[in-house]
Amino acid sequence: MPCKTFSFVVALNLVFGVPVLSANAQDASRAVALINNVRIFDGKSPALSAPSNVLIRGNIIERISAEPIAANHIAGARIIDGGGRTLMPGLIDMHWHAMLVRPTIAALLAGDLGYLNLLAGAEATDTLMRGFTTVRDVGGPAFGLKRAIDQGIVPGPRIYPSGAIITVTSGHGDFRQPVDVPRVLGAPQSRGEQTGAAMIADSPDEVRVRVREQLLQGATQIKLTAGGGVASPHSPLDASTFTEAELRAAVEAAENWGTYVTVHAYTPVSIQRAIAAGVKCIEHGHLMDEPTARLIAEKGIWLSTQAFPDEMADAFPAGSLERSKAFEVFAGTDRTFALAKKHKIKTAFGTDILFSPRLAQRQGELLAKLVRWYTPGETLTMATATNAKLLELSGKRNPYPGKLGVVEEGALADLLLVDGDPIANIKLIEDPAKNFVVIMKDGKIFKNTL
Ligand SMILES: [Zn+2]
Repeated sequence: MPCKTFSFVVALNLVFGVPVLSANAQDASRAVALINNVRIFDGKSPALSAPSNVLIRGNIIERISAEPIAANHIAGARIIDGGGRTLMPGLIDMHWHAMLVRPTIAALLAGDLGYLNLLAGAEATDTLMRGFTTVRDVGGPAFGLKRAIDQGIVPGPRIYPSGAIITVTSGHGDFRQPVDVPRVLGAPQSRGEQTGAAMIADSPDEVRVRVREQLLQGATQIKLTAGGGVASPHSPLDASTFTEAELRAAVEAAENWGTYVTVHAYTPVSIQRAIAAGVKCIEHGHLMDEPTARLIAEKGIWLSTQAFPDEMADAFPAGSLERSKAFEVFAGTDRTFALAKKHKIKTAFGTDILFSPRLAQRQGELLAKLVRWYTPGETLTMATATNAKLLELSGKRNPYPGKLGVVEEGALADLLLVDGDPIANIKLIEDPAKNFVVIMKDGKIFKNTL
């Protein structure tokens, strides 16, 4: 019942502008915070607002006003003097692997899930402290981590989990050794599969089973590998993996559940086949050509791509095949962003940091790198309001109903207070420890150095 009362109060306030005060404001779920004197980057417009005051009640931005908002009389209200700093939406990373950032590949394959979860919990806290209040997890056993974060057991971002990456025998994500084959259908799973990081499926029927298993566990979208990948030992970059019928089986199962499929794909063939099968989002796309870019744009498909830094190849030994594949992909970055811009493709920002806690510390820097192709305003919009639009494809499977990625009345209160103007100086987001002076997620303050 408190939730209903709360919604009613918020609705009253939003519809009529009536400052209805709660009878039990101390209730943590309805806690009030007031952030005064801020200029707002709302996630959409590149221009900052005039000095404003923002009232947060519970987990919702209740009121934004240039006029003073009185909160002194609300018991327990937290009042923060923004001092003219910039208030912006929490950042969103659309290609994250919460369980795979910190471990080495060997530790992942050893499959001690207790250890992996503790690593991931520590990393999740750091992720939030870098200002990333939401991540879309595109592969890895992140269901338990998400649950612990949502229950307040460990601080971390909102997670939209995909569960295991679904691949084919020999595909990107199949980390077995040649001695591990042939697989006997119905035999026990490989170690990699047992961790829930990746699942192997070699027919439409097997794909359906694996997809539905992820949905059962709470996947908000499904991730398949439609083509070869960098980190896998047996998948050439030019390989196409699933057949169109297999991809379509995944799309049907996901859509029956009210959500969508995204695929890992670099090449024109793998991208085009996925689109023909009904896939709604392409991850990477670094080796695409112009006709493929045109197709993506015409069909309104999302491109979730990355400006990979060269250091990312350091996860692989010098002279290794994986390392050379990495540089082949990196060479396509410039062209991919140019095509995305030229054809006005719906483009989302993500980092895809794997097996490198050091690189993870530079998550914000990887976002700031996009100013090579976009204005600072466009860059920050992509990582907030635009990314949030792609999250909405999860439909009723969205675990966090409400508006993300924007600062506006009625939106979820995921907020960063930046010491300076990140539109004028995007480099501010490269040093979140220093420049993000307040970090709020779901209305709760996780950092406040003021
Ligand atoms: Zn990835």
